[in-house]
Amino acid sequence: MNKILKWSLNFLAVIVALVLIYIAVPAFPHLLFNYKITHKNFTFYSDQKFADDFADYMLEVEQRIEGLEVYDSTFSPDIFICSDESLYDFFAFWVMVNENSQAFNLSLLNNTFVNLTRVNNLRYYHDQRLRYTHLNGELSQVIAHELVHNLDCRFIGFGEYTDKPVWKREGYAEYGSTINFIKMDNKYNLFKRASFYFENDLFNAPEHSKRYYKYQLMVEYLFTEKGYGFELLSKTSLREDEVFRELKSWYDRKKTELKEQI
Ligand SMILES: [Zn+2]
Repeated sequence: MNKILKWSLNFLAVIVALVLIYIAVPAFPHLLFNYKITHKNFTFYSDQKFADDFADYMLEVEQRIEGLEVYDSTFSPDIFICSDESLYDFFAFWVMVNENSQAFNLSLLNNTFVNLTRVNNLRYYHDQRLRYTHLNGELSQVIAHELVHNLDCRFIGFGEYTDKPVWKREGYAEYGSTINFIKMDNKYNLFKRASFYFENDLFNAPEHSKRYYKYQLMVEYLFTEKGYGFELLSKTSLREDEVFRELKSWYDRKKTELKEQI
């Protein structure tokens, strides 16, 4: 009996140790990042020397999320910027997210990982054609997108956050990370942005990127045309297909109105 008990305890100890190692790797990746810089509550880590204009990016990240309904001035995230793609791949593989992503966030640990090479490749490819989306390859937006996920999760709690449909989570992260900049752009036009989705192929963007673009349009439509805010969005029982249908009808109506004006 003692032997069985001892064996069970040993087995349990091994399981606990494995779980702790699994969590410790993405929770404490600091040793693999030689460079560190702080901006207010935000701490940025990098495996390569920071660019000379990195202070501008840090400020932009703050400007993007400051004032959002979910914003919390005590929020102190760590952001790990990987110039080496294999380093990013390692962490992405470890936590089982897509290695071709630009970034991911581990909300419970307040850690965000960024694939700088992928971000830069997208910036080169799209060259401002898809502003206000993560497809444009803007570092500050990619980071802000992940931090909005983190803030969203802190605001409503992990359980409710994970229960939220993807269209709400990703749509709000995309829109939330750009809303402050959109408001400052007097040439901005939601209809025109929607036309990129409905009338062309978003410059051959991959399917999952098109989905994010669509989710952002849906959330933006609810906020600007229907008076939604974060809480109403979180609580609404509207389904993805219902909101998308509404958005499409709104777009078609606008298009007809514009044609009639010509
Ligand atoms: Zn996201």
